[in-house]
Amino acid sequence: MKKIQMVDLQGQYQKIKDVVDTSIQEVLNSSAYINGPYVKEFQADLEKYLNVKHVIPCANGTDALQIAMMGLGLQPGDEVITVDFTFAATVEVIGLLKLTPILVDVELDTYNIDIEALKKAITPKTKAIVPVHLFGQCANMEAILTIAKEHNLFVIEDNAQAIGADYTFTDGTKKKAGTMGHVGTTSFFPSKNLGCYGDGGAIFTNDDELAHTLRGMVNHGMYKRYYHDVVGVNSRLDSVQAAVLKTKLPLLDNYCEARRKAASYYSNSFANNSSIVTPVISDFTTHVFHQYTFRVTNGKRNELHKHLLDNGIPNAIYYPVPLHAQKAYQDDRYNEEDFKITNQLIDEVISLPMHTELDEEQLVFITTTVSEFLK
Ligand SMILES: *Cc1c(COP(=O)(O)O)cnc(C)c1O
Repeated sequence: MKKIQMVDLQGQYQKIKDVVDTSIQEVLNSSAYINGPYVKEFQADLEKYLNVKHVIPCANGTDALQIAMMGLGLQPGDEVITVDFTFAATVEVIGLLKLTPILVDVELDTYNIDIEALKKAITPKTKAIVPVHLFGQCANMEAILTIAKEHNLFVIEDNAQAIGADYTFTDGTKKKAGTMGHVGTTSFFPSKNLGCYGDGGAIFTNDDELAHTLRGMVNHGMYKRYYHDVVGVNSRLDSVQAAVLKTKLPLLDNYCEARRKAASYYSNSFANNSSIVTPVISDFTTHVFHQYTFRVTNGKRNELHKHLLDNGIPNAIYYPVPLHAQKAYQDDRYNEEDFKITNQLIDEVISLPMHTELDEEQLVFITTTVSEFLK
């Protein structure tokens, strides 16, 4: 059996090596290392794929969130609501901009933002909501957008983990994850569903004016060369990464399908195990399984983690510490009672190997090892 990896970037690269290498070589030959043609071509391809008016490429997913918040004009002291259960980048940029993060609990079944908790957290100072489409499925955007409209709030979708997922509204309208709020952001970190071979990110919006603001902000606040109208940052997607992304974008749907296939294999194998709660997919969204994360309900999560490692099966706890309990983000206002679900998930979740190259032999070995341990 091939050695099992949490993410098999090498295996995926080998299958597309020729096209990727050619595109990288073209960039090297062109010497247009920054803002070369591939950046614009990838931008246009992604706009088409997402059916969104504007894609603004930038250096990484964390910058994308930060620049989105800057572009919306959020000011120090403005409250921004996001989830307690996510990667820290989401709350980090809120803090960095001296906005006030308001962390709320998530749902036990989808691990995404709890709508009742969101409603409760709104105050006169609230300016924005940052739903995170965690592990590859969309948060309840219809409810979030309704609440946002009622309270005049911006919605910034952190779509680092769900690029390619489809959302269906009650009236039948379909939209791509990241294109439903005022602005959406993503990351092209190598292990993300659409990953490059370094850092990369992008911001999406259908708002022409906001897109214009953001395009200047990623480039030192310049709208005309050497004229700085606003304080910006230096956050660019480089041409080599754009070349990689342009070659990989046409494969994204196949990649998502391969992940879904591995996920259904896992879920089918665990269906009758009373110690396992497999991922629950909401009706309004597809799941692109950035992670396959399930709950262990018999208290043996940590033992399973170790047992799998001992058997050569990489696995991870995403996430081991809730954000409200992190040193950098502690706040006297927080009350443990408000984070019941996150606190429970921190103890119960475990993520199995998930990537596009898992084969049947590996899936059989992983599922048998898990099932025999959690009999
Ligand atoms: C990966 C990730 C980010 C940050 O992306 P980088 O490109 O690593 O900066 C932000 N939010 C979430 C939910 C992520 O998973």
